[in-house]
Amino acid sequence: MIRTKTVTFSKNSTNIFFHILTKCNLKCRHCYINPGQQGKNTLPLAVICAWLEAFAQDSNSKNLIFLGGEPTLHPDLPGAVEYAHNLGFGSITIDTNGYLFHDILAKVKPGEVDFFSFSLDGATRDTNDRIRGAGSFDTCITGIRKANSKGFATSLIFTISSANIHEVDRLPPLLKDLGIDRFFIQIIGLRGRSAKKNPTRIRNQTLQVTKSQWLNTIPRVAGRIAEFGITVTYPKVFLGPAEKFECAGLVADNYFVFPNGRVYRCPLCEDFALHSLVFKNNRLTPAQKLNERDLFQLNIAEGCVMNKLIQPDNLSYNSAGEPEYKIACCLLKEEIRND
Ligand code: SF4
Ligand code: SF4
Repeated sequence: MIRTKTVTFSKNSTNIFFHILTKCNLKCRHCYINPGQQGKNTLPLAVICAWLEAFAQDSNSKNLIFLGGEPTLHPDLPGAVEYAHNLGFGSITIDTNGYLFHDILAKVKPGEVDFFSFSLDGATRDTNDRIRGAGSFDTCITGIRKANSKGFATSLIFTISSANIHEVDRLPPLLKDLGIDRFFIQIIGLRGRSAKKNPTRIRNQTLQVTKSQWLNTIPRVAGRIAEFGITVTYPKVFLGPAEKFECAGLVADNYFVFPNGRVYRCPLCEDFALHSLVFKNNRLTPAQKLNERDLFQLNIAEGCVMNKLIQPDNLSYNSAGEPEYKIACCLLKEEIRND
């Protein structure tokens, strides 16, 4: 039976999104990486290990995700995985664009890496490569098949935008054929290269999707994918009038770590010096005010305060000037699975 549930924030599990570098071989049109704010350095293995130790207490309840840029460009990623595995993290994931540099699949083991998580932004070569670059579709598909053949569990991340929403109905058979275990849908934000005034917008069209496009398409397609036994997760985005708003910065335990030492609790704050924590001499310390924690406290009718500040085009108001809906925390997810 297909079941949908809203995944509530949990204090009992921690997610650490560890950007070990910001360098990447691709230039995806919606890339949110901002080296000016997040650093351009590649962390030495000794620093990665020291920062992992800062999160090592109760590590078995913590999920660790290695990201970049492209994390497999880091020659010491296998060493970082081994160190994290020995520290006992509850799960270890490597996010990748599929290029799998430095022969990573031969240097880590399925017992150490719980998931290789690939990114694709089109169900067809044409659409994906227009967004992510020539050759990226075929490389990603080959990478997924290779990872599966070596016994790794695989997941796929797909960012919905106006450039690819027309072909999401082609995803279910593709994902089934690829043997994907988990599928994550993201919604394009107004950050990074997809921001409005950015000239890299595709055919000068906005990449954002409307509320009705999202609601009429995503839950339906997610249900079809779940029928194949694939667990699907997608952001809730819009809250109904009776639904409670909560800010993950206050009620959940997520850390977004960048190579310049900044550590954020909210991904929408990453383009600003609003981090609430910072690594100093490899110790995790509170950052000076004003920072994201001061914003999390604000209780506004529109829901997420950072959305109102940096993505106000996502909001809509009635004639009385009241918001027509609340925007949920970007970390609040719906999960669909076939039990
Ligand atoms: S693969 Fe990821 S980090 Fe690299 S350009 Fe694309 S979105 Fe950015
Ligand atoms: S996205 Fe909004 S609601 Fe979620 S943690 Fe950030 S500020 Fe809070």
